[in-house]
Amino acid sequence: MSEVTQKTNILGFSQAQMEDFFATMGEPKFRATQVLKWIHQFGAEDFESMTNVSKKLREKLQDVAEIVEPEVLFQGDSKDGTRKWVIGVSGDNKVEMVLIPDGDRATLCVSSQVGCALDCSFCSTGKQGFNRNLDAAEIIGQVRIAIKSFGPVDPKGPRRVTNVVLMGMGEPLLNFDNVTPAISLMMDDNAYNLSKRRVTLSTAGVVPAIDRLSQVTDVSLAISLHAPNDQLRDELVPVNKKYNIDALLDACNRYLDGLSDKRVITMEYTMISGVNDQIEHARELAKVLKKVPCKLNLIPFNPFPGSDYRRSPRQQIEAFQRVMAKAGVVTTIRATRGDDIDAACGQLVGQVQDRTRRSAKYVNRIAANEV
Ligand code: SAH
Repeated sequence: MSEVTQKTNILGFSQAQMEDFFATMGEPKFRATQVLKWIHQFGAEDFESMTNVSKKLREKLQDVAEIVEPEVLFQGDSKDGTRKWVIGVSGDNKVEMVLIPDGDRATLCVSSQVGCALDCSFCSTGKQGFNRNLDAAEIIGQVRIAIKSFGPVDPKGPRRVTNVVLMGMGEPLLNFDNVTPAISLMMDDNAYNLSKRRVTLSTAGVVPAIDRLSQVTDVSLAISLHAPNDQLRDELVPVNKKYNIDALLDACNRYLDGLSDKRVITMEYTMISGVNDQIEHARELAKVLKKVPCKLNLIPFNPFPGSDYRRSPRQQIEAFQRVMAKAGVVTTIRATRGDDIDAACGQLVGQVQDRTRRSAKYVNRIAANEV
């Protein structure tokens, strides 16, 4: 019989949560800082190694707490240097994450949910259905795993992960309570110490959660727009039926207004041949994007089995980009990376034991404010 553990996994605790945890043990705040540094800056696996913590406290911690990260089931490198992991999480589920090196940058794309309930028509994760939210330890654990994959952690050595994007599996704003402590750790001086410009949360547009987000963090924001009008967006990103483009852009402006520095929203736009990639779409999009300070990132559609969509030809993507640039919108084309190991955008499928049967049902519950 396997032993049932009562220990608290403190891997996902933000600074504030760690301070609360130590307070309940009658310990001062600085203990929280010490332990955070051990876990996230030195990659400590256990309390024994935390040499500036008294032996008595270390023993106490061993009794009540643990540091458990999700299990790596697979790690593979693409020809272009992209590294992909398959991570096992309870319930026979798997999620995926990808590290994309580019010059002196290395961007880690992490997952926030097992599957996704939003069912965007061009995304393979959505087609898998939804099982559950990842907890904060499973989200921040992905960052720790990626850094540790380069060997022993050296806080003085080169940064192994310079940027994090929540663009893997799942809709981060439908897992608010686990995603926010994890991003706070990504940006915390005592943990991963990434600047707010280097941590990006990507959302399909859960408007009330964007407003909530601005109350607790100043992370950078990316929006999966994908269409210049509601009619087309309703089809591609069904959550648009609940929160339309105007409501979404208003929320973006409120978010930017709440920041202490001048930043822009990253608008993501997957280029699907004959669907949203025509010159008329570009002209319409240019008008829409005047409403919010932003830059545009065009993502060539990545095909997956069972999808009828095709990637826009390169020429079409470049023509689209020219229209946008002429209209004054800074527009980049995302390089397709890691597709030889199915690590490109929208190819992260993992293994999801769908519990919604039809994830569309879940979208209806969102629409009815039940979620
Ligand atoms: N749920 C969040 C984050 C996950 S998706 C969101 O919607 O933003 C990360 C990005 O990859 C999104 O912009 C998404 O629209 C895009 N994407 C999904 N499937 C894709 C595919 N097959 N090809 C290219 N991009 C895709």
